Amino acid sequence: MSKADLKSMSLEELQIFMGEIGEAKFRAKQVFEWLHKKQVSSFDEMTNLSKSLREKLNETGKISFAHAVEKYVSKQDNTTKYLFALENDNIIESVLMRYSYGNAVCISTQVGCRMGCTFCASTLDGVERNLTAGEMLSQIYEIQKDTGERVSSVVLMGSGEPLDNYDNVLKFIRLANDKNGLNLGQRHITLSTCGLIEKMYLLADESLQITLAVSLHAPNDEIRNRIMPISKKNDYERLIEACKYYSDTTKRRITFEYAMISGVNDSIDCARELSERLRNMLCHINLIPVNDVKERNYKKSSSETVESFAEFLNSRGIETTVRRKLGSDINAACGQLRKGYLEKRQK
Ligand code: SF4
Repeated sequence: MSKADLKSMSLEELQIFMGEIGEAKFRAKQVFEWLHKKQVSSFDEMTNLSKSLREKLNETGKISFAHAVEKYVSKQDNTTKYLFALENDNIIESVLMRYSYGNAVCISTQVGCRMGCTFCASTLDGVERNLTAGEMLSQIYEIQKDTGERVSSVVLMGSGEPLDNYDNVLKFIRLANDKNGLNLGQRHITLSTCGLIEKMYLLADESLQITLAVSLHAPNDEIRNRIMPISKKNDYERLIEACKYYSDTTKRRITFEYAMISGVNDSIDCARELSERLRNMLCHINLIPVNDVKERNYKKSSSETVESFAEFLNSRGIETTVRRKLGSDINAACGQLRKGYLEKRQK
């Protein structure tokens, strides 16, 4: 019989589980706090539970984990990249970024990704499996343990498409937000999607206060189809409609991510078309100098091109910022470290 993953359970689910193994309901809150407040990694550390209950939990339950196998610290800005091993020896990566307002962590939601964005190394070998909510939380807990500092915001922008693992990601958001656990405000959680339209409508109706970031990367279908194959099924017009529905329903401003690729999507004509597409929308654009992925033939736009693009959009009333590139000396770009580690392991 497979063991129940207690770290991925809400308090209510844990109460039901306790009933099923013949224990009192109040034990659930104790276990929940051990897992999410004190963030222990074994039942034996739960010292206010009787020995017999701990034994029972060891027999029927498990605690999902993420063990750091490698860690790289940027000499430039202290950005830290972690490679974590999960159950079945699956490898994922997470990034800790230090800002003046606190520590932000970028976590993975799947092992690999099946979305096929052409600028991203995470998708080169497809997707292996979804992460559980407990595994997503474990990335944050381990980074907090390692630094001794609290994580104040989380971005779901590591490997994987969060909306392709919808139920577990929703569970994660609710668990991270739980006042008996990490107690992370929803406004401090950003979910980044490549634009799975149907799931965006579902998400809008969940009454959450998280920030939605949409990887747009182009001003029209023709260019977007080349960069992001997934857009062939999720066309531009319907995507923008879904974004409007999200911001109208949640009253939250959408962030559009736009990776600047030299000669592909960085002309002033592109900026003009983009500004027309997004006119009157509650949104913000983040321009990102694209990462070099050696398997692809992309070069990042020059800083002058990025600046003029941003200036044009700002002059049209669309708030646009250029994302500061962190950790460029440690391959902090999406999926690159994991890929290198797996190649090393294979040899
Ligand atoms: S950018 Fe995100 S959605 Fe696209 S392939 Fe990479 S991990 Fe997947």
